[in-house]
Amino acid sequence: MLTSAEGMYYQDDKGRSVLDGCAGLWCVNAGHGRKEISEAVARQVAKLDYAPPFQMGHPLAFEFAERLAEIAPEKLNHVFFTNSGSESVETALKIALGYHRLKGDATRQRLIGRERGYHGVNFGGISVGGIGNNRKMFGAGLSGIDHLPHTLNINLNAFTKGLPEHGVELADALEQIIALHDASNIAAVIVEPMSGSGGVIMPPQGYLKRLREITRKHGILLIFDEVITGFGRVGKAFASTRWGVEPDIMTTAKGLTNGVIPMGAVFVSDEIHDAFMTGPESMIELFHGYTYSGHPVACAAGLAALDIYEKENLFDRAIELEDKFAESLLSMKELPNVIDIRNTGLVAAIELAPETGKPGERGHKVFKHCYENGVLVRWTGDILAMSPPLIIEPAHIDQMVSALREGILLAS
Ligand code: PLP
Repeated sequence: MLTSAEGMYYQDDKGRSVLDGCAGLWCVNAGHGRKEISEAVARQVAKLDYAPPFQMGHPLAFEFAERLAEIAPEKLNHVFFTNSGSESVETALKIALGYHRLKGDATRQRLIGRERGYHGVNFGGISVGGIGNNRKMFGAGLSGIDHLPHTLNINLNAFTKGLPEHGVELADALEQIIALHDASNIAAVIVEPMSGSGGVIMPPQGYLKRLREITRKHGILLIFDEVITGFGRVGKAFASTRWGVEPDIMTTAKGLTNGVIPMGAVFVSDEIHDAFMTGPESMIELFHGYTYSGHPVACAAGLAALDIYEKENLFDRAIELEDKFAESLLSMKELPNVIDIRNTGLVAAIELAPETGKPGERGHKVFKHCYENGVLVRWTGDILAMSPPLIIEPAHIDQMVSALREGILLAS
């Protein structure tokens, strides 16, 4: 049980101080207990605790949207607020379908996701997502969905520093799906630029660019789910900026408010925005929205988080520390049962060979050892994921690696 937090550390109910190697759940990018955010939240609750987002507005939502548009990829100048990554995904998929219908392409209804992709837990998200356990209890999900192959290839790319060399051709699977259904039936492709929850899976060099070329050629919208990669995780504000590929729609949440108040934001291009905004002014343009869309308190938290990111240059931090982070982790390459270490920016995974007949057991042992020795990492089966707050210092990286090293040795 985690009971309080400050900077890089949690305190737990046993009195332990635990280094946060995960930024909570990939979200506390500016570190814990930031007074600037808690004070902004307190001020906002006292000033305007709630304002309906339907038919009315409030200034902070516009101010926040404008600040976000400034740091977003060039053409993504419009923001729709939600309350979570899952809601951002549902919103993005609905905007994609609506956009084609408004353009007179109503047959464009199919959606394409990717194996091992994670897009939250709502029906659209689990349908385009590619994680079996998130799907198996819930029947068929949405119809009209295809999946690209995932891009993890340990045989060819194990222990790569940064983006792997092999696998750009996996993007060409999109051409096959298009050949099967015809582009005139396909609305959008959604991928995480780097898959987080599916096991920290990197895009091979050139892969995202290839997806962009194919989608553009066929008039299919490209959606990047940047719920994890957004707000500095892989360097720059967004992965799409770091890797130079601009989507039509981008989904975010998590680091948007430093994880302090639940909030998500969907960014869309001018072209998509303008397709909806055809008036007359008294009409609702997009029949979609949540009671808490653009919540004033969440906007206050988000604006304060943005101030911190900018003042402390935290969007540069993942690039500054990338080498140190990669080399420290890759120093564990020869340890027993380590079959892959992959990383980019300030995110990494160590994949372990499973114990015979007991998948996940070895990963759990390492996770437990690390936690009991004061380091929180994330454990998914036999994959350990690290995504520390961007305020991390080199000494914290050493602390993390030392706990992981001991844990991996003990679990052998
Ligand atoms: N999309 C991605 C890429 C995510 O990583 C997540 C959560 O981890 C989500 C969507 C869902 O976000 P939330 O849990 O805020 O609904």
